[in-house]
Amino acid sequence: MLDDIPHSYPTITARDIQAMIKVLRSGQVAQGQEVKKFEERFSQFLHVRETIATSSGTSALHLALLALDVKNGDEVIVPTYVCTALLNAVYYVGAKPRIVDVNYADFNISVSEVKKNLRSKTKVIIVPHTFGLPADLRPLLNLGVPLVEDCAHTIGAQYQGQKVGSWGKLAICSFYATKMMTTGEGGLVISNDLRVLNKIRDLRDYDHKDIYRVRFNYKMTDFQAAMGLSQLSYLSSWIRKRQQIAHAYTQQLRDCPIQLPQGGDGRQHIYYRYVIKVRKSKQRLLKQLKKAKVGCADPVYKALHRYLGLKGFPVAENLAKEAISIPIYPSLKKRHRQHIIKTLRSLLG
Ligand SMILES: *Cc1c(COP(=O)(O)O)cnc(C)c1O
Repeated sequence: MLDDIPHSYPTITARDIQAMIKVLRSGQVAQGQEVKKFEERFSQFLHVRETIATSSGTSALHLALLALDVKNGDEVIVPTYVCTALLNAVYYVGAKPRIVDVNYADFNISVSEVKKNLRSKTKVIIVPHTFGLPADLRPLLNLGVPLVEDCAHTIGAQYQGQKVGSWGKLAICSFYATKMMTTGEGGLVISNDLRVLNKIRDLRDYDHKDIYRVRFNYKMTDFQAAMGLSQLSYLSSWIRKRQQIAHAYTQQLRDCPIQLPQGGDGRQHIYYRYVIKVRKSKQRLLKQLKKAKVGCADPVYKALHRYLGLKGFPVAENLAKEAISIPIYPSLKKRHRQHIIKTLRSLLG
């Protein structure tokens, strides 16, 4: 009897649990030395000046926009094929989101659409590296508008030999349960810009300040940071594991009538998601996969332009009709992987 294969699943090791227990026994559970160590280790890992741990990816994004002085009257460019966390952060600071379409090939923000939507009020472009494949950053950097890289799917991946998160003015990451690594909930701000970093450290927590201003409680706890430190020690091997699974999928699905994910041209794919495109009957296929106990999903629940009732996003509309995300995570069992391949091959004929 085969059990249901979840679409995504966190990998939590005995060492992660031991690390957390140690902190829980210490009496110091809120933000302290473990958070500091986590930030230092992450800065070394990414080769950046500093990182700042937060309570979530959303709070990291909120702080990032505040640190860049984004406010009422400003516009922020956001791709449509993402989760609503990005939209929320833009509205938190009172700015106007300008939603743009994505590339069909790699799901990332379309540079030509960004160019068409630049205005004098454009303050920031949020650039997610979608599903584990870095966005093409060079042409975006050349536009002269500050970039906030969203590395929630792609932490540890390289663009032109340098890790994502270190290219933009700022970057953020999420450590939600099913991301590349987890602290349950959690986030990170990444930057080389000291002024921006100081502002974010100031706004992240409210106590022991000489001057009052509106601040937040967006801190990570020390037991989460202990888990994060332990998880980070596995990240590179987990990336290799994901790439191995992806390689097996690509090898064994290549003659099916579907489009497989592609990497290349200086961009390293670390397969946060393995997204295939089917030309017909996506809904039927999803039902059949569910019956076969293969947990597949729409890679994006609902594109932002649809929530906002906007028209004219042909690529994202096509992706809504065609894209299916199949299970991929470091703890995916080999027999499950084989079942997924067998099931897809037989359903796709
Ligand atoms: C998960 C995610 C976020 C939000 O992170 P939370 O930790 O859930 O707040 C932002 N951007 C992307 C691309 C994400 O996948």
